Amino acid sequence: MVLNELGKSLTKALASINAAPVIDEKVLDACLKEICTALLQSDVNVKQVMGLRNGVKKRVNIEQLAAGLNKQRVIEKAVFDELCAMLDSGITDTKKLELKKNKTAVVMFVGLQGSGKTTTCTKYAYHYKKKGFKPALVCADTFRAGAFDQLKQNATKAQIPFFGSYKETDPAVISQQGVERFKTEGRDLIIVDTSGRHKQEESLFEEMRQVAAAVQPDLVIFVMDGSIGQAAFDQAKAFKDSVEVGAVVMTKMDGHAKGGGALSAVAATKSPIIFLGTGEHMDQFESFETKRFVQRLLG
Ligand code: GDP
Repeated sequence: MVLNELGKSLTKALASINAAPVIDEKVLDACLKEICTALLQSDVNVKQVMGLRNGVKKRVNIEQLAAGLNKQRVIEKAVFDELCAMLDSGITDTKKLELKKNKTAVVMFVGLQGSGKTTTCTKYAYHYKKKGFKPALVCADTFRAGAFDQLKQNATKAQIPFFGSYKETDPAVISQQGVERFKTEGRDLIIVDTSGRHKQEESLFEEMRQVAAAVQPDLVIFVMDGSIGQAAFDQAKAFKDSVEVGAVVMTKMDGHAKGGGALSAVAATKSPIIFLGTGEHMDQFESFETKRFVQRLLG
């Protein structure tokens, strides 16, 4: 994970303020400019960088700085608090996210092809299985050849019941059949894996809407590759505009992800990040904790 690249750049930016003999608006602005550059390089979306800059400025009191407090610490804390506030801003309706044992929840996963959706479905199912839930997996991905086999293989490994079809080509029909089957069987967490595409395109969004209409999900989770950089905001927004995304999972956080994508995903979907994918294996899956994430981001 290269998350702490931001931390290194911030340390550099803050060194300038620590070295300044007099702290005034100009010195603070110069430091903030450097901080903004560091944030942009960490894939934070431009609009959010501006928001963060203003937020930090509000939090920092020039007179206090001039009075000789540890300047670096004051600004660092303001940046930290501002990043946390941005990530937490997606948490509006936590009720939707609460799963209850013995009360059926249908959770639909959406995302681009290759984002890690199928892998994440199993990780999510396995996570709740360990907590005593009775999950089940439905493969409604009829677009990618081999998608059902992949889900089947993962589900078998995790010993989780699965449903899919080699013949039926309509994902809405498959998902409806699967959800009905597992409801009858008394499963309390029914996870629907939908198709992706290589890029955002209308056919994908239309298909997502049809599956959502067929299964009436209690929660839609958007899966996003954490390493896609500045493209994160637009991608997340396109999904949010098509289906009622309620939560986000960022994958591949073990790779080249710089962390800024997380802020973009929250801002674009107005939904919280709930898990991070940190590897290809089933148990490489972490519950998202804002403060811990920002600590890592800042190194
Ligand atoms: P889908 O097309 O969105 O369903 O994506 P897949 O679940 O098939 O994942 C695409 C590739 O990304 C596979 O090779 C996965 O093993 C890999 N992958 C998924 N999640 C992670 C993750 O958190 N970290 C890493 N390193 N690889 C991941």
